[in-house]
Amino acid sequence: MTKTNSIIEAKNIIRTYGQKDDICKALDGVSFTINKGESVAIIGKSGSGKSTLMHILACLDKPTSGELLINGTDVSKMSEKQQEILRGESFGFVFQQFFLNPNDTVLENVILPLKINGQDNRKIREEKGIKILEEVDLLNKKNNKAKNLSGGQKQRVCIARALVGNPQIVFADEPTGNLDSTNGETIEKILFGLNKKGITLILVTHDQELAQKCQKQIMIKDGKIVNKL
Ligand code: ADP
Ligand code: MG
Repeated sequence: MTKTNSIIEAKNIIRTYGQKDDICKALDGVSFTINKGESVAIIGKSGSGKSTLMHILACLDKPTSGELLINGTDVSKMSEKQQEILRGESFGFVFQQFFLNPNDTVLENVILPLKINGQDNRKIREEKGIKILEEVDLLNKKNNKAKNLSGGQKQRVCIARALVGNPQIVFADEPTGNLDSTNGETIEKILFGLNKKGITLILVTHDQELAQKCQKQIMIKDGKIVNKL
């Protein structure tokens, strides 16, 4: 295989929803390359196709047509199991809606991906979780139930959960969308700090200011890449 610096290559990605006369082309022939260690903003108005694109890049959804290479491998040629392993071992996810288990403790939420990835040793899981909670400054909350945290704290738990498996890529869909500006800034700092350490950051946002802080901007309008919104 040829050596390449690209971590993601999208070639003419199309994603439609619905059928025949009720068809919606959420992505209409999208192509780009993301290099290892880059910070990339996927930017566009509501309904432009950002989340659809992120879900495809993160192998949470499949394109209707087109090709997606991750680390040079065509995802469509990978089995479901291989894709699951890729998601579990190489990707971390941060969502606007948090998706935490509200009645579980902060630590339980953070170490859940390790359990899913097959780390059977509870002590090892907890040690890793504690180390990551220190990084997001939430160790003092480790035994609190997730539902009792503030929005900003919840999003830091999500970041810790995204990082616990030591991912190559962190995908964040509107990570500051539900937060006030102070908490939003804290989350931004953490995410860009990770990127400085070499993690590829793929950020979905409709916030132009946040997007400009990334090295690359992929602007989407009506499912197509455009130069200006
Ligand atoms: P964004 O994240 O930029 O707001 P989305 O990717 O969520 O945009 O949506 C792009 C388009 O696809 C919109 O027109 C939306 O209504 C449509 N869409 C998204 N998800 C679905 C779905 N599951 N079924 C049908 N249409 C969808
Ligand atoms: Mg969206």
